[in-house]
Amino acid sequence: AQTQDKAKLTVRLCGPRGFCAGVDRAIQIVVLALKKYGAPVYVRHEIVHNRYVVEGLQERGAVFIEELDEIPEEDRDRPVVFSAHGVPKSVPQEAAARNLFYLDATCPLVSKVHKQAIRHRRLGRHVLLVGHAGHPEVVGTMGQLPPGAVTLIETVEDARRFVPPVEGELGYVTQTTLSVEDTAEIIHALEQRFPTLHAPASESICYATTNRQEAVKQAAPGADLFLVVGAPNSSNSRRLVEVAERAGAARALLVQRASEIPWEEIGEVSVLGLSAGASAPEIIVEEIIDAFAERYDVTVDLAVTAEERENFPVMRALRDVELTKS
Ligand code: SF4
Repeated sequence: AQTQDKAKLTVRLCGPRGFCAGVDRAIQIVVLALKKYGAPVYVRHEIVHNRYVVEGLQERGAVFIEELDEIPEEDRDRPVVFSAHGVPKSVPQEAAARNLFYLDATCPLVSKVHKQAIRHRRLGRHVLLVGHAGHPEVVGTMGQLPPGAVTLIETVEDARRFVPPVEGELGYVTQTTLSVEDTAEIIHALEQRFPTLHAPASESICYATTNRQEAVKQAAPGADLFLVVGAPNSSNSRRLVEVAERAGAARALLVQRASEIPWEEIGEVSVLGLSAGASAPEIIVEEIIDAFAERYDVTVDLAVTAEERENFPVMRALRDVELTKS
């Protein structure tokens, strides 16, 4: 169709969006490990929650596993990378016991939360972890301390019902990718009941989560549709969908690729909000804009609320590879 036949569409493109420094570093670690040590490089759990990224790395020789015992006997000398979400202490211990060479791609901001949980415990506090059951980051953070030392709080109701298992002080940390608003409510509910509750020394929700939610909040009001590029198991991406709906987008959806856009369902759209979770590559954002441009006369407006300069260097073992990167 000619441009004049197409309906006008404004795309409010959020910034910051997409890859954060932790995801970028984790992907680099796998790529550099492949370059330095050759294939296969084992990766425990999806390195980041994005199928496109995972498949791209598989093509280069990464092999994804869920547990270390899946590494076959003959590949015991191959490197294994731990994902950006972090791992329980038992995982590096098991790797050492099996004599495996591991590279830990845990985001430094997740490691910081681990340290804060350990610090609470060292100071004699029972630890509360605000987060979502089953998420690998939660499994990793809980696994920094002995069983029973951490209680998971998922909702305001959990905060209201929580009974300390031991007498004494309490300290909390949170998952890094939560909704800023929901978390504030949960912490408020806890503080009302336990006024001496100790906060972590610094905010657990990371800069990338906060910034992406803030940009979505700005772009969502009045949008007929809001799309967030991200995977269903990506916590920070799902939070962006909720934030968009709350901030006034008529409808918000999570999509992994342009092929998932339900064209017949979305009806008339004149303002589209668009963002991407911290594990979603920019190429898919472009793919989505292109898909709309085939059907609409698209104007892109930037909704930029912050600039990010964070950059997390890879571990020393891989820095020499980075220098010679082509
Ligand atoms: Fe690190 Fe935040 Fe990115 Fe998670 S979302 S990898 S905590 S920067």
